[in-house]
Amino acid sequence: MTLTYMCLILPVVPEPVDRTGVGPRALNVRPQFGKDFIIAKPLNTALKRVLPPRKVESLRARRAILSGKIRSLVDDPRQFNRNWAKRECPVCGYVGRFWSFGSPPRAEAMCPSCMSLERHRLLQLLFRDHLDRVPRTTRVLHFAPEAFIREKLSRQCRYVSVDVVPYRVDVSCIMEHIPFAHNQFDLVIANHVLEHVSNEAEALSEIRRVLDPDGVSILSVPQIFGWEETYEDDAITNPDERRLHFGQVDHRRLYGRDFAAKLCAAGFDVDAFQVDRPDEIRFALTRGETLYICTPKTQARRDPHDSMDRPLSIGSSAS
Ligand SMILES: [Zn+2]
Repeated sequence: MTLTYMCLILPVVPEPVDRTGVGPRALNVRPQFGKDFIIAKPLNTALKRVLPPRKVESLRARRAILSGKIRSLVDDPRQFNRNWAKRECPVCGYVGRFWSFGSPPRAEAMCPSCMSLERHRLLQLLFRDHLDRVPRTTRVLHFAPEAFIREKLSRQCRYVSVDVVPYRVDVSCIMEHIPFAHNQFDLVIANHVLEHVSNEAEALSEIRRVLDPDGVSILSVPQIFGWEETYEDDAITNPDERRLHFGQVDHRRLYGRDFAAKLCAAGFDVDAFQVDRPDEIRFALTRGETLYICTPKTQARRDPHDSMDRPLSIGSSAS
């Protein structure tokens, strides 16, 4: 048995990272690392000592794909009995059958080659169409970073990744308290994060604060377009109840059509990005899913605390 093969199969014990290639969500709760770290952390440490960084990254990616496929097979073992159409992944270029993902499983949600989900592919399509030539001087703040976006932007921009969990990100914080000075970023990305935060208004205010007046924020959330208003109830704290009401144990709310109005109320001008219906099918996207391109309203008044810059600037660490 080769060393490479051993490296692939031994660390199948899960790590504290989302198998989709997306970092842990910006929650106000901490993940249950415990038993994951008993084996995975010492093994990862040992591998890092004997293998070059590029090899470790390659093994980590292959392990994530293997884990994702095993999870998909366990969650939806009959998925291959169904008829399927060829789909296309704009992230990695794969063309073929997509696999189920989620709880309960969403059919054809996951690219089996790179593990991208619907929201990742939509974000990639936005970048492909509009932001492929991001200038090197662009200052980027990326919440719960998607791996493929992080890889691209961290090479070509002044890039900071952020999450509530200090694992494979530059800075750990909650979205309601971003430890950066005002107007520090030209681009803020938070894809499917706001539904997790406790205080949505504070989180949006913080994004608005750190965003340059000429900057852009790309925000998205799961939305029920048949609902006029967002559904939330702070009295629902039990995990099973949250799953029942909001779809996941770590969701605080389910957004309705009023999400764009919330962004406007937070001081943004808002444009919506969608792809046309044939491309939703081609790329196996969630039908009607929308990315919101937010720019600060020019007439928005600054908060009186604007003069109290926070201690960090781009490139420094929170810890
Ligand atoms: Zn892919």
